[in-house]
Amino acid sequence: MDKSVIKEIGPSKVIQLFFPVSNFHAIVVVDNTALGPSIGGVRVSRDVSVEEVKRLARTMTLKNSVSGLPHGGGKAGIIADPRDTKKEHYFRVFSQAIKDLYEYIPGPDMGSNEECMAWIYDEIGRSVGLPEEIGGLPLDKLGATGFGLSECAEIACPYAGIELKGARVAIQGFGSVGRAAARFLSEKGAIIVAASDTKGTICNPDGFDIKELLSIKEETGSVIHYKKGMVKTCEELFLTPCDVLIPAATADVISKENVEGVKAKLILQGANIPITREAEERLYKKGILSVPDFIANAGGVIMAAMEYAKKSEKEAFEAISNRIKKNTKLILEKTFKENIFPRQAAEELAKERVLNAMAYKKVL
Ligand code: NAD
Repeated sequence: MDKSVIKEIGPSKVIQLFFPVSNFHAIVVVDNTALGPSIGGVRVSRDVSVEEVKRLARTMTLKNSVSGLPHGGGKAGIIADPRDTKKEHYFRVFSQAIKDLYEYIPGPDMGSNEECMAWIYDEIGRSVGLPEEIGGLPLDKLGATGFGLSECAEIACPYAGIELKGARVAIQGFGSVGRAAARFLSEKGAIIVAASDTKGTICNPDGFDIKELLSIKEETGSVIHYKKGMVKTCEELFLTPCDVLIPAATADVISKENVEGVKAKLILQGANIPITREAEERLYKKGILSVPDFIANAGGVIMAAMEYAKKSEKEAFEAISNRIKKNTKLILEKTFKENIFPRQAAEELAKERVLNAMAYKKVL
């Protein structure tokens, strides 16, 4: 088939599941499977919507494609409280409902973790991001995505006129991704000057002792209890004077409402779709370089795909480093050469591989 006739790459399936007896809803989107069965996380949140899951599934298609993985993109959302005491029950019910949807391989996402993936695996024998005891590479514990962000920073910093050693970094969201990014970036000599969670922001222009900050978060549940810093509101994180800003919490946190206040020179998108399209274009015009989510935060899915292919932890870390560094360089070169904004450069590269694979499919 001539790929120029392909108008849309997905979504191929949008499924809404209702469980009246257990009293919860779920959404599954399989965006595209031209490169292989789709992999994508299961988000658990009270307000996850069909639209959000569709956008996240597309991000997975692009991420898996550009990362050279034999997988398409998908995503699921369970509309429930992630702290619900019946979590195991609704994960097991959800698993049975997707048992025959072989083109979707669930992974962890916000509100789900290795234990949840183990429940799914126990029910249907198909999930990634499993605990070590049952053959998994625990990507959150190992900090796969945070490690990938630090590798991305190594390549991207010079393009933004920054030296990574000594760069001041602000991180929104001190969960699995944010904490690991802080740890790996400080090992590379960066200085973490602000971090936030749902309780607020902690700032110290001289930088934190990361080990201390990590243990305060672990012990008290929030970064704001760290005594060696100033406490501010969640939103003030974006106003922090810094070189590198890492949104690592949730979707659409930088929008037209707050984009003008952003002071960073470089943004590495740790979360999925953390910046609206409009704000991303505005950042580009302001001269702030922003590395798109599916390039910068691909560490987790690369490790998940390595686990699925039965590779070792060492091979997974090597794959993350090689692929993220190569892709960051590729898209930033294309951005500067063609004078286009980074997401456009990244989408063109990612879509090319998907379209080439789709061209081999039977036309019905
Ligand atoms: P997590 O649940 O472990 O952590 C999220 C953190 O964000 C928590 O500390 C929470 O308190 C904080 N948060 C939520 N809303 C906030 C707000 N408004 N202001 C400040 N902090 C806020 O989740 P995670 O696994 O770290 O994932 C974070 C993001 O990264 C999500 O968008 C996820 O889809 C994306 N992501 C995760 C991975 C991964 O490997 N875990 C991979 C790729 C992308």
